[in-house]
Amino acid sequence: MKKTRFAPTPSGFLHRGNQFNANFIWNWAKSEGAILRLRIDDIDQSRFRLAYLEDVFSRLRDWGIQWQEGPLDATDFLQNHSQHLRLTRYSQALSAIREYTYACSCSRKETQQSEQFDGCPKRCREMALEWVPGQTALRAQLKQGNETWLRPDGEWESVERAAFVLDPVVWTREGLPAYHWVSIIDDLDMGITDVWRGADLLVSTGIQRQLARLAGFHAFEQIRFGHHALITDEFGNKLSKSVLSQNQ
Ligand SMILES: [Zn+2]
Repeated sequence: MKKTRFAPTPSGFLHRGNQFNANFIWNWAKSEGAILRLRIDDIDQSRFRLAYLEDVFSRLRDWGIQWQEGPLDATDFLQNHSQHLRLTRYSQALSAIREYTYACSCSRKETQQSEQFDGCPKRCREMALEWVPGQTALRAQLKQGNETWLRPDGEWESVERAAFVLDPVVWTREGLPAYHWVSIIDDLDMGITDVWRGADLLVSTGIQRQLARLAGFHAFEQIRFGHHALITDEFGNKLSKSVLSQNQ
């Protein structure tokens, strides 16, 4: 049976972009007879607020979206579904990709200011630093080549290698699993078969597929990923979750 998910981040109130994405997924799930899972990505707690978490549930109910799996409300989420309850799982899975990773001592500021990357701004890969959890980040060295995959509707999508010259962070310098790693493990553990996400996550899909392949998680490559256009606000700015900026 097909299973998809809506995966908001409680780092702000849900906006029209989230509403469009949620409705898109809900309509697809209904037309396919697929299970819809609600997954709330709370691994990054830097902008977390309880009000944002509660907003997810009230908005989804306002929009008439019904999910069959996942947390029922904010209390249920915090007690049984927070990604922080699964830190051991994310950590144990790390051994699968450890040989393709290297420690990175670049600060967030250095990463944001630099425009030319060979893995990371200071080329930490060449220095073979010792990884110190909580002090240095862990990046995975991705191989070259384009990434192509099948969408839920049977069309093909691809992303260019040049789009991810910065090696992705797998474990942050704050000592937590990074967005990409958490998303891969969760999609696998939850048995997700089909994902619809905004076009701003096209590069993320390419990165996640490459990471999963390096880790030997071949079931991940069977997941179909489709990307829909982003809607814009009244100023013409694209509304997105901006997850890409959080782990680079
Ligand atoms: Zn570095």
